[in-house]
Formats: sequence, C-alpha cells, structure tokens
Amino acid sequence: MKLVCVDCSREVALDAFDYQCGCGGLFDIVHDMKDLDADRLKRVFDERLSERMTPYASGVWRYKELIFPELPEEFITTKYEGNTGLYSSELLQAYTGIRKIWLKAQSENPSGSFKDNGMTVAVSHGRSLGYKRFTCTSTGNTSSSLAMYAALAQGSSYVFVPNKNISLNKVLQTLAYGAKVISFSGTYDDGIRFYEQYSKELELYICNSINPFRIEGQKSIIYEISQYLKWSLPDWVVIPGGALSNVTALGKGLHDLKTLGLIDKVPRVALIQAEGASPFHKMAAAGKQELTPEPSPYTRASALNIGNPPSWKKALRTLEQTNGVTCSVTDAEILDAKAKVDQSGIGCEPASAATVAGLCKLVAQQIIDKDETAVCILTGNMLKDTDALHEYHLGEASAGNYRNGILSADLALEDIQRLL
Ligand SMILES: *Cc1c(COP(=O)(O)O)cnc(C)c1O
Ligand SMILES: [Zn+2]
Repeated sequence: MKLVCVDCSREVALDAFDYQCGCGGLFDIVHDMKDLDADRLKRVFDERLSERMTPYASGVWRYKELIFPELPEEFITTKYEGNTGLYSSELLQAYTGIRKIWLKAQSENPSGSFKDNGMTVAVSHGRSLGYKRFTCTSTGNTSSSLAMYAALAQGSSYVFVPNKNISLNKVLQTLAYGAKVISFSGTYDDGIRFYEQYSKELELYICNSINPFRIEGQKSIIYEISQYLKWSLPDWVVIPGGALSNVTALGKGLHDLKTLGLIDKVPRVALIQAEGASPFHKMAAAGKQELTPEPSPYTRASALNIGNPPSWKKALRTLEQTNGVTCSVTDAEILDAKAKVDQSGIGCEPASAATVAGLCKLVAQQIIDKDETAVCILTGNMLKDTDALHEYHLGEASAGNYRNGILSADLALEDIQRLL
C-alpha cells in the first residue's frame, strides 16, 4: 500500500502521510493486489460473517485485506459499522418504475450515516501515527461520526461547522459525544480552504474527505453489497454526491472487485446531485473536464450543500471507469422521494433520497431501462433531520405530495371508527 498523487503521480510512503502533495493534488491509496487470491478472500470474508467480538465482525474490517492490510489490530477503533441491511421494496419499484430495486441502508450505521464506514479507518490510522486529537469540517454527519470514534478512542475532536443550513440534530449528536464544536460564518468550502492553508500549524489529524483513508473504508459499502448478492451486482448503482468522496470510493471499490475477479461485470454508476449544489453534474452535462465551483450552493438536503467538491477529479474517474451518468434533482423531488422511502419502512434523510428521485428521473428519460436493476445507496438516517420531517408532514407551507398529517378526534367510538 502506498500513497500516489492524483495530479503528478508522485509516490509517498505511508508513514510520510500528508493530506496534499506539494503540487496541490490529493493523494490516492494504491494497493498491491498481486498476491491476493480471490477464492481465499471470498472464503475469509464469508467466515467473518459469523464473528461477533473481533474487529472482523465489522462490515468494514471484514475486508481489511482490501482496505488497510498493514494496520496493526491494536489500533483498530470500531463500532461494528457496516453490516447494514440491503432491502428490496415493491413500493419503491412502483414509484421509480424500475423492475428491481435494492436499497442499501447505510443509515443503519452506529452514528446514523455512511460516514462511519470511512471514519473508523481514518481514526484508526490517526491513532497508529500517535494522534489523539482529530478534526473535520462538516455539514453534519462527518462531525457526528468523528465525535463518536474520537470518544471511543479516548481522544478528542474539534469540529468546524458552518453557522447556516445545517441540521441541528447532527450538531446535537456531535456535542453529546463530547466534541468541541466551532461554528463559523461561511460555507463548508471555506472550512476546507482553511485546512489547506493551516494543516501543519493546527497539529490535528484531519478527517475530511480529502483524507484518503476514509475513502478506503467507504469502499466496503460496495464490497458488502456484492457479498450479500453472492458477487453478482445489479446493472446500476445510484449514489448521491456532495463532496464526492463516496462516489470516489464506489469507483475504487468496483475497480478492486473487478481486478481481483470477484465480480465479472462492473455496474454503471449514476451520481445524483441536488439542483442547487450540482457543480459536478453541470460539468459532466456540458462535457467539460474542469469544474466550475458554485459560489453560493443551496439545497434543503443539507448533506449535499457543497459548491466546490475537493474530490471531483477522483469522482470523474469513477464515471469514466463505469460508463457512468450524472443527474440533478430538485428539493421538491428529493423530499417526495424521501417520503416514499420513509413510507416503505426503510427511511432515510433528505440527501439519501436524491438517489430514488434521480432513479425516477433517469428511468423516465429512458437513460436507465425499466427492465434493468439498480441499488440505491441510502446514506443517512431519517432522524438526522427532524426539521425536514416536521416541515414536510406538519408544516403549513409544505408542498409535499405524500404528507401524513396528524388526525384529531374526540375519543368516541363513532368518531374513531370514521377515521379507521
Ligand atoms: C456526506 C453525505 C453525503 C454526500 O457524500 P459525499 O461523499 O460528500 O459526496 C450524502 N448523504 C449523506 C447523508 C451524507 O452524510
Ligand atoms: Zn502531486
């Protein structure tokens, strides 16, 4: 395993870890896979499904050989993340118009979002370098996740959050785990710029999506989907994009599976952005190879509120390698799709429902054929944004098509029977 700069291909040893190359590029982790045997790996991964008390019971560390083989076990900080449900849903098949849909509920992670898949690896790596103080800037879920793992590792965390357009639930969760929360006036993108300037002076281990170890951990999402489906994937994987770390990890994970021969066919990736924060989709739709940042992004799906995604070059690679597509959806489409995901019994936060909204649109546009199959990655839990639930179901200004308001009645049998 080594670090390679995405821009200039400079190689750096693992113990000389830095977030950015001298040239300004981000690092990628490259594994040496030539000694790995696919059949043996399959057997080991299956055996670990019955583990309960070792790090290998985790849905991330189960795949340690493909994620971070060099890490000594003593540094692993795990909450048995991953191991999330893969559901089918007739309701959502009817809603999107596709023949077969699966939903991968990363919302079932210990802190309630897929950020745990990556954070367990970043915090474990930080500990192996001797760090006890961790930091991130975040629209919310990254901070909740970091605060949880830092607490578990008996370290401390310092979290920078924009003072607008974030979910209070996520901030409260972060405070409750004991993080120092620093609210600043500016956007997520301003937070990232601050790090790039001062990472050395702060002497903190940075856990943003520019951290390549998080990407390695997030590859486990597609590994787990593959393993649960007996190493045969659907035609499409649909994923939401904000900072674009998860779509990067998806592409990398698929590449690993194909290289090892664990899967025969690589599915196509559909990346969905929210219309108010869709610089990557705009670039792809215009056939450009250079991203123009959005100076004031806004979407109600707060986890997608990012105008200048740092990982866009890595994300472009995923699209190229999977013959992928991009699409953008409105907040109204996202919130209606979310109501359907919630009513299917699975549930998710707004950003996650961009996948289902996007799938509807791509099927309607016949970019995805209704006879194909798809898996949508649900990134966060429905209780991550209770304000969104309140606005949609009980808000006077709600434009939701699937509202479910509260009924009120006198407790008289006839009145109640009329409601049932
Ligand atoms: C972080 C996050 C996203 C976006 O993922 P990126 O890797 O930033 O593209 C989507 N949904 C939820 C719930 C998130 O927390
Ligand atoms: Zn470089």
